[in-house]
Amino acid sequence: MAIDLGEHRCEFCGGPCAHIAFAAFVCDSEECMEKARVARGGPGGHMKRKAEGKPAFVDLDL
Ligand SMILES: [Zn+2]
Repeated sequence: MAIDLGEHRCEFCGGPCAHIAFAAFVCDSEECMEKARVARGGPGGHMKRKAEGKPAFVDLDL
């Protein structure tokens, strides 16, 4: 991955960024991951575009 996560912060708590989930930078907290899911998962547009980076989080019909 070309993105250096160390240069980013969790969008929800401001902690160190550990993942990109649902098109958001998040830390290791499941709580923040859930917030990202709720924030971005609803409309579906972002998720569809970013799904290629995080296939584990979506129901891909492989
Ligand atoms: Zn966080």
